[in-house]
Amino acid sequence: QHAFAGGGIGLGLVSDVERQALALTGSGDSVWDWEVDRDEIFCGPQLPALLGLKPTALSGSPSNWLEFLHPEERERFKSVLNVMLDHRRGRIKQDFRIRANNAQYHWVAINARPVIGSDGEVVRCVGTVRDVTERKISANRLMHDAVHDNLTGLPNHELFMDRLEVAIAIAKGKSGELKPSIFLIDLDRFSQINENVGYSVGDSVLLTISRRLSRLLKPQDSLARLSGDQFALMLLSETDPERIAVFADAITRALKAPISFAEQEIFVTASVGLVSWSDDQNNPDELLRDAEIAMFQAKRIGGDRIEPFRPAFRKNQNELGHLETDLRKALDNGEIELSYQPIIRLETKQVSGFEALLRWRHPQRGVILPGEFIPMAEKTGLIIPLGLFAMEKAAEDLAKWQKKLGGVPVFVSVNVSSRQLLRHDLINDVKSVLTRSGILPNTLKLELTESLIMENPEHSAQVLRKVKELGAGLSMDDFGTGYSSLSHLMRFPFDTIKIDRSFVADSGGSGRPVILRSIVGMAHDLGMEVVAEGAEDETDALELHQLGCEYAQGFLYGEPMPADLALEALSQDYPLTK
Ligand code: C2E
Ligand code: CA
Ligand code: CA
Repeated sequence: QHAFAGGGIGLGLVSDVERQALALTGSGDSVWDWEVDRDEIFCGPQLPALLGLKPTALSGSPSNWLEFLHPEERERFKSVLNVMLDHRRGRIKQDFRIRANNAQYHWVAINARPVIGSDGEVVRCVGTVRDVTERKISANRLMHDAVHDNLTGLPNHELFMDRLEVAIAIAKGKSGELKPSIFLIDLDRFSQINENVGYSVGDSVLLTISRRLSRLLKPQDSLARLSGDQFALMLLSETDPERIAVFADAITRALKAPISFAEQEIFVTASVGLVSWSDDQNNPDELLRDAEIAMFQAKRIGGDRIEPFRPAFRKNQNELGHLETDLRKALDNGEIELSYQPIIRLETKQVSGFEALLRWRHPQRGVILPGEFIPMAEKTGLIIPLGLFAMEKAAEDLAKWQKKLGGVPVFVSVNVSSRQLLRHDLINDVKSVLTRSGILPNTLKLELTESLIMENPEHSAQVLRKVKELGAGLSMDDFGTGYSSLSHLMRFPFDTIKIDRSFVADSGGSGRPVILRSIVGMAHDLGMEVVAEGAEDETDALELHQLGCEYAQGFLYGEPMPADLALEALSQDYPLTK
């Protein structure tokens, strides 16, 4: 770059070495240099930057590479290096899959040649490494990737549902000859594995499980990975209940056998819902839902078991069914309200803003809390109108308050759920709410949880950037309950993190300040402010303030309250203008 800037290039004043360096920079490839004596790899910063990794993440000991390589390629990588050492010639020309910061695997090509020292030994092996994902994904590959999971290569949810639909269509009228059974397999406490031993081991565990389960299949059966730690298996090769039970035992054994990794053994259990197709079922969604209901039943009684579906499980679901019809009407009937919980600036003890929380005033059942209806709203899609209502109502109330306070920039924070984030319309919704309400810039914040963002990091990053550009604030909700690290989340434009109350509440234990202090410190280093949730007494508040949290929210400062009481709370801290 220096040489380019100097203008000497055009005059031809460039040495061969410079020319080569320039060519390399221009190509976008990274230098890849393995110093054999010290057994250290140097990898130029371009590749790590592309993968969202630290500049030095792929340099140093070869084991640093192993950590990021796809579990299936680690052995090959090691043997490629060994072969080079043994033969002292040839070249490395290999493609590997490597894990980017967003958990997606990229293909990279290493192209390097050995340099032989005077003693005839390989001194170093030097060349380039480049991202070749695009090249690898030919049109065919793209088709495959759209319906297969990128870690295990198994069919994904879409393809599975497609196959199930076909199987059901064929099964109809065959009176029992062909009769799909579904095993919905959800690993127990998998997030703890990720947390305790890291993603890369977590991925290996998923791979091992997918291989073990695949081995149980006959050609007509199929296995899919529906989501993170959830697999679905469609059994067509057995229809006799006893044989199915035998197969179920085989699944249990496959899951239960310890998985050895490095020096450790990892034990995995799963909750499995089992349902067999019967003539009255027409649709694959229903069949999978029954399997899911059975799986939840298995979880409810402690996990580590296979639970065959029984219609009685649906009774629970039926009660929810009534509620679902009611919820459809609730918005129109004006039964949905917003409650506001104060968020206090610890330095001044003044109300700085509120979190808006939905409440449903059910005509027969009284007030229903979001824990009971949000999951249902998410499933049915009702969360879209509900979420829009929350955003519009909160902005409307906020505009009134700001006017009454003569422009004090109090804020409101609104929760956003995954269905909302997945729709591109979220951006338009935020835009129109901001323009119509006329609230001060930056005083509408959206709260999102990390698990929601990590469901689809690329898309989320894009949407969040746009929302931020519109001037809305972004809070990371329930921080600490997922498994992402703060640095992982750095590439999303959050201005605030909310530390989950589970970290705040365990008063008395000596662990609290240490963890909290480091979360707060890191958040500040990243330029974010911190809200502590669940402050319940004065000791909490004092400690949180000492730890450097800017804000606290919790029963100490008030439970969620209706809009008029929220204004009253504001009027105690600020003079009202009219
Ligand atoms: P959240 O976002 O973590 O909201 C905080 C919850 O903690 C609220 O429960 C609040 O009442 C409760 N809380 C506040 N202070 C304390 C405290 O000091 N101690 C204890 N033990 N609890 C405290 P709530 O209102 O039942 O809301 C539950 C969840 O429902 C929320 O969790 C949020 O995830 C979801 N939710 C609420 N409103 C909406 C909404 O408009 N949209 C979406 N998508 N989700 C919402
Ligand atoms: Ca929240
Ligand atoms: Ca929260």
